[in-house]
Amino acid sequence: MVQDKVAIVTGASRGIGRSISLALAGQGAKIVAVDIDPVATEAFVAELKAQGTEAIAVQGNVTVTEDVENMVKVAKETFARVDILVNNAGITRDALLFRMKDEDWDAVLTVNLKGAFLCSRAAAKVMAKQRYGRIINIASVVGQMGNAGQANYCASKAGLMGLTRSNARELAKRNVTVNAVAPGFIATDMTDALPEAKRQELAAQIPLARLGSADDIANAVLFLASEQSGYITGQVLGVNGGMYM
Ligand code: NAP
Repeated sequence: MVQDKVAIVTGASRGIGRSISLALAGQGAKIVAVDIDPVATEAFVAELKAQGTEAIAVQGNVTVTEDVENMVKVAKETFARVDILVNNAGITRDALLFRMKDEDWDAVLTVNLKGAFLCSRAAAKVMAKQRYGRIINIASVVGQMGNAGQANYCASKAGLMGLTRSNARELAKRNVTVNAVAPGFIATDMTDALPEAKRQELAAQIPLARLGSADDIANAVLFLASEQSGYITGQVLGVNGGMYM
């Protein structure tokens, strides 16, 4: 499926990014783990190597053009190709509309949307030349449904779906597919920060009656990252327990 493919995963060392990296590594991919925290990234890559995966840690901020260009350069120098890019790095800065600060809006849009744009632009240059690539953007169900208190986050994730469709159209002739996975509510550090009452309220809205796991998301990404998904592009795959249909 992804044997010997070279995969860049942003926000790789924790949560969903970590599960995605482990899933790709488990199927034989070589991993370029990118994260803002160098210590966590190095520690995660040491774990990957200990289990026999070829992997490299790249410290980088997805909002900084030089870091992103460097990430692709290092991947290419180390493994000669870039087959898969997973734009997973993301943040929240929740507040109700009237209270949302300009900085909260800018920070979330910059990491979640501009970061994906910068990484896609850099990786797509290599993928287009290779005439092969898989780009997977990690969006969110709230980009489809909206969510009170998350104007910035919902706008960034809805924007990511537009970026997905536009890049899919542009890159199709080079055999590069671009898709998004829109997770529902997933049990990670991000959702652990919510009060228990809010978590129970969320679970009650989900037909499958549970929060998702990071592995649920990783399994969907693994399929879209594989050669077998080659006739799928510009799509948003909801992995949300049926919460949005
Ligand atoms: P997480 O546990 O907070 O992990 C996010 C990772 O991204 C962290 O390792 C973080 O590094 C890194 N990161 C943040 N800003 C970065 C930047 N500017 N450059 C490079 N790396 C950066 O989040 P998660 O819950 O796994 O979420 C992963 C993705 O899934 C996000 O895009 C999120 O929006 C999306 N998602 C999550 C859920 C959910 O329920 N958890 C639902 C829908 C969508 P530091 O920790 O060092 O800051």
